[in-house]
Amino acid sequence: MTGPRPEASPAHDQFLLRHRLPDRSRLWILVYLVVSAALVATFLVARRFTEARFGDFHALTSTAAALAVMVGILTLVRHHSRPNNHLLLIGAGLIGAGILDGYHAWITSSYFVELFPSVPESLAAWSWTTSRLFLSVMLLASWAAGRREAKLGAAGLIEARSIYDDVALLAVVCLGFFIFVPLPPAYQPGWPVHRPQALGIAIVFLLSLVAYLRDGRWRRSPFASWFVLALVVSVLTDALFVAFSAGPSDLMSGVAHGLKIVAYGCILVGVVASTYHLYRSVEETSLELEASNRVLEAEIERRKLAQAELEQAERKVREYAERLKSSNAELEQFAYAASHDLQEPLRVIAGYTRLLASRYEGRLDGQADRFIEYTVSGVERMQKLIQDLLTYSRVETHGKPFERVDSMRAFEWARTNLQAAIEESGASITGEGLPELVAEPTQLGQLFQNLLSNAIKYRSEEAPEVHVRAERTDGAWHFSVADNGIGIPSEDRDRVFEMFRRLDTAGDRDGTGIGLSVCRRIVERHGGRIWVESGPDRGSTFHFTIPDPEPARPDEAP
Ligand code: ADP
Repeated sequence: MTGPRPEASPAHDQFLLRHRLPDRSRLWILVYLVVSAALVATFLVARRFTEARFGDFHALTSTAAALAVMVGILTLVRHHSRPNNHLLLIGAGLIGAGILDGYHAWITSSYFVELFPSVPESLAAWSWTTSRLFLSVMLLASWAAGRREAKLGAAGLIEARSIYDDVALLAVVCLGFFIFVPLPPAYQPGWPVHRPQALGIAIVFLLSLVAYLRDGRWRRSPFASWFVLALVVSVLTDALFVAFSAGPSDLMSGVAHGLKIVAYGCILVGVVASTYHLYRSVEETSLELEASNRVLEAEIERRKLAQAELEQAERKVREYAERLKSSNAELEQFAYAASHDLQEPLRVIAGYTRLLASRYEGRLDGQADRFIEYTVSGVERMQKLIQDLLTYSRVETHGKPFERVDSMRAFEWARTNLQAAIEESGASITGEGLPELVAEPTQLGQLFQNLLSNAIKYRSEEAPEVHVRAERTDGAWHFSVADNGIGIPSEDRDRVFEMFRRLDTAGDRDGTGIGLSVCRRIVERHGGRIWVESGPDRGSTFHFTIPDPEPARPDEAP
């Protein structure tokens, strides 16, 4: 047997299991044909023994009744594991037929025969017919109800309770019928077919057989294959053995009783086989589930590990950042202390070198005068460098709290400080729309002063023209300082803000390369950003932003 292949089946279809079984239609067609041929052969043989007589078939009918009820219950149990119209009607049909078969056994027994108005022969034949009619109709109905469910889905499901009620009602009505209604003769001895009503029942069974054969589930579903076999047996039982039985105790009738048990037995085997496959598929599913659980657990474990590694890495990054922060602070402190402490000895050296220059200039030889001049200018440069470094480190270490400040005043302050350079260069420096905002006043003044002094220092041939303006952007003030100086090549625009960075274009102009670093540090301390737009020979425009959440008022502009 090939192993079951996983394939989804419609949720409502309980004939087919979750794990589809292999197609066994060839085998089953052979079985159906062989069984049919055997029954036809048995019928032909039995026709020769018309005289053979048996006592009664109480044992067979009781067995059939018990078997039908048992198979019916098993089918319903299977149905209740996942409600489904086919199995509900087949199960209920079998239980109903079992009850009617029970009547068939009881009412012909010598204990009860007195109770009924009809002769035992008629009682036996009609109670058999009732049971068969009921079963055949229920089986045909089970197919129709199954189709309805396939079309409508869950909405097409029949409620089990209503079917049980109908079966119980039928049992009572039948009993009453047999007790109160005198029955007509069941056998037509003069006719070629002695019990024509059996042909009608055979036709109903045949309709179910054709319907179930056409829907094809018998090819794979063990229950459906056995069920179709039961239908084959039932059709031939009624069409041949019952229809041609000439009396309640002849050979035909005996075979029919036996075949009824065989048909019930087929359904029983079908239920058992289907239950077996169900268990197997449950077992396989749970194994699959266990395996996928294991994979899932391993995946969870892996993710936990990755998470832990990530957390550890994050912790390390935080630690490094912390260390960097504290070593930066230490470095800043060191730079401040070093530049601060260097100032004093430098002042002494500068003082004495200047004294040396003023006292001995022209009194020593020409070379000594040049040496003294170099020393004086070197010391002055060093003083400027130390001064600028100190300014740089003070931005953070000596930063004062922010306050509401008029940027126009800061601009004016810077311009006043640069008065000498402005006059000397003939510069025109103008400011427009400079607002009130929250900042540190001294640092804002320092920022303007650095940018304005650069604009004058890096002037072109023309007299410097510098224009400072501000405009409101989203949540910040955007300042710009535009000059008509020598400009900055595009590849250097970011580098000019680096510490000690001086461009070649600066030529012989004095400077330490710290001024713009101070500007950037001040702007960043205020939470803003600084950048420059420029091109050689077309001036530079320095932009910086200072966040200021307060909305601009028209009267804020000076
Ligand atoms: P410094 O002026 O002391 O050299 P800065 O940090 O103020 O240092 O400036 C860095 C460099 O940026 C300068 O050396 C100069 O080459 C260039 N620079 C700054 N401002 C301007 C400007 N307005 N126009 C052209 N170049 C400038």
